[in-house]
Formats: sequence, C-alpha cells, structure tokens
Amino acid sequence: MEKAFVNEIKDMNIGTVLVDEPLANHTTWKIGGPADVLVEPKSVEALQGLMTYVTRKQIPWRTIGRGSNLLVSDKGIRGVVIKLSEGISELEIKDNTIKVGGGYSIIKLATVISKKGLSGLEFAGGIPGSIGGAVFMNAGAHGSDISNILVKAHILFEDGTMKWLDNKEMEFSYRTSRLQKEKGVCVEAIFQLEQGDTESIKAELQKNKDYRRQSQPWNFPCAGSVFRNPLPEYAGQLIEKSNLKGHQIGGAQVSTMHANFIVNIDDAKAQDVLDLIAYIQKTVKTNFNISLETEVEIIGEK
Ligand code: FAD
Repeated sequence: MEKAFVNEIKDMNIGTVLVDEPLANHTTWKIGGPADVLVEPKSVEALQGLMTYVTRKQIPWRTIGRGSNLLVSDKGIRGVVIKLSEGISELEIKDNTIKVGGGYSIIKLATVISKKGLSGLEFAGGIPGSIGGAVFMNAGAHGSDISNILVKAHILFEDGTMKWLDNKEMEFSYRTSRLQKEKGVCVEAIFQLEQGDTESIKAELQKNKDYRRQSQPWNFPCAGSVFRNPLPEYAGQLIEKSNLKGHQIGGAQVSTMHANFIVNIDDAKAQDVLDLIAYIQKTVKTNFNISLETEVEIIGEK
C-alpha cells in the first residue's frame, strides 16, 4: 500500500493504527501473515470517516472481529483491515431489548444478560466471536442461532451510508447472511430476548460451556468447525469415519477430540492448514462421494 495512504490514515486520529501487523496476533488459530494496515476504530464515526477515505482512494479493505472463523494466508492481507473491538462495543439494555456494538464479545454478552434473567443467547456459551462476526455468520449452536433473536442490524456500507436492516432483510440461513453477498460492516445489532428464570438461564449457559470443554479441543489454537455440515450428514462424522483424526501436515492436525476441528499444534503455517483441508476434502469425496465446503473463511493474498 502506498506510504502516503498509510501516513494519511495514521494522521486521521481514528483509533489504533498498526502497520505490517501480523494477523496471527488477531486470529484464534494464531495463524496469518501481515496486514498492510490494521485499524481498530475508536468509534462508529471514526469508522465511517475511514470507510469514506478508503473508498475514495480505492484502497482494498475488509473487516474482522475476533478472528475466530478465519484462515489468513501466510502472505497476509493487502490494504486496510478494520478490526471492530472495544471502540465499537456499547451495550444498552432496555427491558427485553438489547442494543450492542459490533465489537462486543458474544460470550461476554451471553454471560452479562444471563445474570439479568434474559433468555435467548444461551446457545452462544462457547462461541468466541464478536457480535458483528456472529451476525455475518448467523452463528449458532444447540438448535438456535442469531436469526432467532435479531430484530435489526445497523450496517455501514462501502459508500459511507448507514442503514438498519431488519431480520428479513438480513436474509439469514444456515451460517449465512446477506453480508456474505453484499459488503458492509455490522456496527450494532438489536436483539429481542425473553424474561426467564435467572438461575436456569445461567445453568443452561454453563451446561453449554461445559459441553464444549468436554467435546472440543481447548488446549490448542483453532477456529471451530472447519467444514459446514453437509446435512443430513455431519462433517465431523465423515472425517472420523475416514480415520483422519490425528492426521497431521506440518504443524496442523485434525483434532483427536473433534474431527471437524483442525488444531495448530506446532506453529502451523496457513499452508499446512490449506494442505490438510484439501487432503480431508479429497479423502471424504473418495469415501462418501460428498464434497465438503469450508465454514471457516480463507482470506488473504495467495
Ligand atoms: P471473524 O472470524 O473475525 O470474521 C468472520 C467473518 O465475519 C469475516 O468474513 C469478517 O469479514 C466478518 N465480520 C466480522 N466482523 C464483522 C462486522 N462487524 N461486520 C461485518 N462482517 C464482519 N461458530 C458457530 O456458528 N457456532 C459455534 O458453535 C462455534 N463454535 C466455535 C468454537 C471455537 C472454539 C471457535 C474458535 C470458533 C467457533 N465458531 C462457532 C466460529 C466463530 O466463533 C463464529 O463464526 C463467529 O461468529 C465469528 O466471529 P468473529 O468476530 O470471530 O469473526
């Protein structure tokens, strides 16, 4: 990226600006080469200013949240990576309705509201993403997902305009939303929850967290389920039946605990994970004639 652009972004006073920042520092897999520039905007207004600037200068950009569903290539990302975090994380609770910033942690939100006797987010007990990332992915578990509670999402579009999109306009389906077709940043979301019994809500949330600890690897960096379930089949079962648990390429290994997880056991490179993904896809295709598609998003310069 042109040095002049980097300097102009640094001078904009829009929050934290890091140059040549390794994305391994911002993904749960602890993998990924550098972003030319990584910005953590201090407010929605700052983000809007940045968006107008990058669009005007035709600088490529992308948003990340907590990097829990991303495989970033070893060469990293050209242009500007916008990370939503503390600067865009206001929380407002009014009766059963909550308005929350795109950078807020979804696990933290589930915990905070459970203590207030609000039910609807217990499913998010083990999902380590941001609100924006969860809306983008229609994240879900235990038979529920974001689409069950979202009233509307506030989206910043590339031309700098902002619009509230209601649940229908977000076009949710399994791990998918409209944001996967149309580029925009979810800066806040409004959720409708239900009053319930505080103790049972807390117990349900804890049960979901415990289940994760028993069934998923927590001692190595990972990015959750690597493949979408080719329903009615489950990716994990197909991989396990293919005897791939523990299969390793470089520093990346098919988890011995959960076959749909790939763990970074020894300073894995993105290429190790890509090679392992390709190997799994080939093996499952040969054994079951099913093509597995990735749920994790593969991004960055090839
Ligand atoms: P990132 O990984 O940073 O980004 C993912 C995508 O969302 C990218 O395309 C990015 O551009 C986009 N994005 C991020 N923020 C925004 C924003 N503000 N506006 C617009 N687009 C944005 N997922 C589930 O659904 N269910 C699970 O049970 C589950 N379990 C997991 C368990 C573990 C241990 C891990 C590591 C991950 C798990 N995941 C699960 C995956 C992941 O946590 C979710 O997909 C999560 O919603 C991603 O949020 P994020 O903030 O980390 O997004």
